[in-house]
Amino acid sequence: MWRSLRPIGRSDASGGYRRYAWTEADADCRLWFRMQAEARRLDVETDRNGNQWAWLGDPTAGDAVVTGSHLDSVPDGGAFDGPLGVVSAFAALDELRARGAVFKRPLAIVNFGDEEGARFGLACVGSRLTAGRLTKEQAYELRDADGISLPQAMEAAGHDPAAIGADPERLAKIGAFVELHVEQGRALDLSGDAVGLASAIWPHGRWRYDFAGEANHAGTTRLVDRRDPMLTYAETVLAARREAELAGAVATFGKIAVEPNGVNAIPSLVRGWLDARAADQGALDKVVTGIEAEARAYADRHGIDLTVVRESFTPIVDFSHTLRDELSRLLGEKTGSTGKVPVLGTGAGHDAGILSESIPTAMLFVRNPTGVSHSPAEFAAEDDCVAGVLALADVLEGLACR
Ligand SMILES: [Zn+2]
Repeated sequence: MWRSLRPIGRSDASGGYRRYAWTEADADCRLWFRMQAEARRLDVETDRNGNQWAWLGDPTAGDAVVTGSHLDSVPDGGAFDGPLGVVSAFAALDELRARGAVFKRPLAIVNFGDEEGARFGLACVGSRLTAGRLTKEQAYELRDADGISLPQAMEAAGHDPAAIGADPERLAKIGAFVELHVEQGRALDLSGDAVGLASAIWPHGRWRYDFAGEANHAGTTRLVDRRDPMLTYAETVLAARREAELAGAVATFGKIAVEPNGVNAIPSLVRGWLDARAADQGALDKVVTGIEAEARAYADRHGIDLTVVRESFTPIVDFSHTLRDELSRLLGEKTGSTGKVPVLGTGAGHDAGILSESIPTAMLFVRNPTGVSHSPAEFAAEDDCVAGVLALADVLEGLACR
């Protein structure tokens, strides 16, 4: 499976993947999914929102067990983020058939469309639409960098956009969704485990900081006469790092805009975007208010006007405790170990997080030895990938076959 998936949407220059929604690479991924499903005698359908489903058993029977992930990528993404969950799903089905498993619940493997949001700027479009967390009207407003709208892109790729929107009937037929994903951090590497279970997706948000000062000549303005917003911005970046360390959170200024943006001009305005995430709301509040308080103190000292605007916010996603405990029991039972499968939180968003409000949802993580993700350097060892497949097979067997 990896061999046939490898060339699709791969950039020779970077070695990374450019599999964006409703492009040729995306169509090739979808064809790959269809061929894998048909080779296993599964019934393939594409739902109204462009998500692909491969069914074993009757989709209308209800209480289905669903696994899978996504095949699209960020710009120059790695091979594993998304595809590992889909490849492992097919491999786990092969494993269960080799074990002679008898299915008592319908099983589906899913490929969610447009998870990364690389083209239209919004992540998890396929699952958001299905769960009713993105309306048809909102989706119709999405545009890519060339001004092509989402419905135009869908149409060009042969998908009718007229029916996109919430799909409660489909979700009502699903009893459990389990997404396997490469870990996007080093928790498993540090704990020495190949596979872990997700506890929650951290609450996270984006804040825009506008530092307004006074543009002036870089050569003739005395230091004491300056109102330089770049200084306040720089102090705020360092404060973010300190506050994040204190709160056990992460905080990043990764994007900046400067006016007038001239080498020989003191800036009039520095605009920086803060991305902050933490394990719980309390820690997130602490880091965000701490950074803003420090920024305001620095701004006062330098005569800078500071405006802070929260641009987006996603509260904590707490996965189903019942399903997680069930998975923990199934995995412990199989290995015969008394030791528990590690349970870890994550700072990254997933389709599973979107769906967890609608259906019981769980996630399995596979060790990533460097923690690097969203990069061509993203990696998981073959032994760990196999351990992930076997864990997924054990879980699916426990849920769907007994
Ligand atoms: Zn992913």
